[in-house]
Amino acid sequence: ERSRLLSLVGTQGRTRDGTRVELAVNIGSPADLDLALEYGAEAVGLYRTEFLYMAADRLPTEEEQYQAYRTVLEGMQGRPVVIRTLDIGGDKALPYLGLPHEENPFLGFRAIRLCLARPDIFRPQLRALLRASVHGQLKIMFPLIATLEEFRAARALLEEERAALTAQGVPVADTEVGLMVEIPAAAVLAPAFAREADFFSVGSNDLIGYAMAADRMNEQVAGLYQPLSPSVLTLIHLTCQGAQSQGRWVGVCGEMGGDPLAVPLLLGLGVTELSMSAPALLPRREQILNLDMERARSVAAEALTLSTAAEVEALVRRSFPELA
Ligand code: PEP
Ligand code: MG
Repeated sequence: ERSRLLSLVGTQGRTRDGTRVELAVNIGSPADLDLALEYGAEAVGLYRTEFLYMAADRLPTEEEQYQAYRTVLEGMQGRPVVIRTLDIGGDKALPYLGLPHEENPFLGFRAIRLCLARPDIFRPQLRALLRASVHGQLKIMFPLIATLEEFRAARALLEEERAALTAQGVPVADTEVGLMVEIPAAAVLAPAFAREADFFSVGSNDLIGYAMAADRMNEQVAGLYQPLSPSVLTLIHLTCQGAQSQGRWVGVCGEMGGDPLAVPLLLGLGVTELSMSAPALLPRREQILNLDMERARSVAAEALTLSTAAEVEALVRRSFPELA
């Protein structure tokens, strides 16, 4: 089985009928690239940069960041690399920032909210990303976007830094700029975001949590954390419809992207890039190779008409018996 899966390394992700699906990897540091490439990652769909910030008891310098981003871009040899800007707060603390205690950290001062309030932290990261952009195919992604104003403000800072670097004669490449869809508000307003963003990546971990108002780490409510809830699928459907209205692409980089039960639904809804942990890459590549897109589309459409996650799961298992 291992050698059968390894024989898929170097092939492109495609469904049985030839629909292209980009199989990307989630990484937390340049060191994760070796395993990703061994398992045939076609792209980096999510580089979580917060680990750079958690590695020491101080902020990383612009130069340290530039070196890390450059290493990943060069390692991927021209294939796409989606780098997410700092996503700190919530479950990821940064003690040396000395941020005040919050009653509801998941509804509080985290990710893009913190970055927009702290340009002294955000601008060096943007500069490091732009300087690294000439070393590969960089796509920049902002986390936890709730409003269009946030996306515009983040993008404006990026363009300011781009103009400043260019004025100094520093070479900078064109980059796609997108957002994570992790908050239901962004999914519902996808048509508006799609007019201004180049791509969406569904952060299903947070999207499910915010849609169901349930923390999966909390045993008392973990049962409410339902990836296959028709409500969650409807939010992803709205995201895909909004994207398609402007010709944008949609990826999924939360755990759902590597979940065998979710994959047929995601592809059927119109997702074209799945980003997952390295060990999931080859099993999902094989699953997708055997997947009939027509069936995936009709199953996804039917799932949207159902009322419970249990009904969706039963539908998926019935429709794709090979999932067992
Ligand atoms: C997500 O929310 O799905 C996601 C990929 O972000 P993180 O898991 O880093 O919060
Ligand atoms: Mg998230």
